Amino acid sequence: MSYDPNNIFAKILRGEMPCVKVYEDEHCLSFMDIMPQAEGHTLVLPKEPAETLLDLSDAAAAETIKVVKKMAKAVKQATGAAGVTIVQFNGAEAGQTVPHLHFHIIPGSFAKAKVHAKEMVDPASLQELADKIAAAVE
Ligand code: 5GP
Repeated sequence: MSYDPNNIFAKILRGEMPCVKVYEDEHCLSFMDIMPQAEGHTLVLPKEPAETLLDLSDAAAAETIKVVKKMAKAVKQATGAAGVTIVQFNGAEAGQTVPHLHFHIIPGSFAKAKVHAKEMVDPASLQELADKIAAAVE
């Protein structure tokens, strides 16, 4: 499937739309989910334009999983959660709503997590935890 360069995450990656940023390197960007399923719900995106994991180059996949691991550790430490769930949807049929590949890092009990992409929060309310997660990145 062809990549849509006007999807919301492509715009965030280009700096055309805001996000509550937590981490960035040459391969990936990580920011807070605007409709968090749990406090500390963080997203990790490769910068390479790929709709799903199936479209991503092996080189970018290798770099991205390193950042997912790094951010999962930081989210776990910053929230004090005993566990974190990592979720990643491929295609609308699977539940993907934004067509730029991303990994969800959701701390705490996934069984108690809120419904996916439903309840938007004020971005300002995410900043304190974003700063805490950023400070926990090793
Ligand atoms: P997907 O369904 O594609 O796996 O997940 C998309 C995620 O992106 C959802 O959890 C949704 O809450 C989040 N999201 C959608 N639009 C925005 C946005 O503009 N900014 C941020 N930070 N998150 C978004």
